[in-house]
Amino acid sequence: MEQTFIMIKPDGVQRGLVGEIISRFEKKGFTLKGLKFITVDRPFAEKHYADLSAKPFFNGLVEYIISGPVVAMVWEGKNVVTTGRKIIGATNPAESAPGTIRGDYAIDIGRNVIHGSDAVESGRKEIALWFPEGIAEWRSSLHPWIY
Ligand code: ADP
Ligand code: MG
Repeated sequence: MEQTFIMIKPDGVQRGLVGEIISRFEKKGFTLKGLKFITVDRPFAEKHYADLSAKPFFNGLVEYIISGPVVAMVWEGKNVVTTGRKIIGATNPAESAPGTIRGDYAIDIGRNVIHGSDAVESGRKEIALWFPEGIAEWRSSLHPWIY
């Protein structure tokens, strides 16, 4: 089953949006497979955003991500990468539709509350980076009836 990496950024944590964000993914029907509350250091954040290292906003982005604890999660389900990005909304909150997380809770592109993998392959890489210890396996498929 497809998996994606979702991270509630420091502003989302500090503004008390953790429960709301988790709730949206849960209510959609996706399965929470991994979760941890951590503060990452600069080299780690630079690795996570390595593809953006040439961008003018890269240093500010890294400062933002290391500024406080984040909630790192693995979510699983059919089309979870693409649907997860729809739940999150466009990168720039000025363009995110109402009803999306960024559309409802963010204003500034530099403080857009949440990260979600943009493809299955980048999701795999991000899950390996953030959960090197692996994620707990369920003993069996507990609720195949959902699909
Ligand atoms: P997304 O998070 O939607 O996948 P990107 O991968 O393009 O977007 O960018 C990663 C993150 O970098 C964004 O979520 C946002 O926090 C930040 N970012 C992107 N563009 C800008 C910008 N022009 N100015 C400041 N921060 C930006
Ligand atoms: Mg991205």
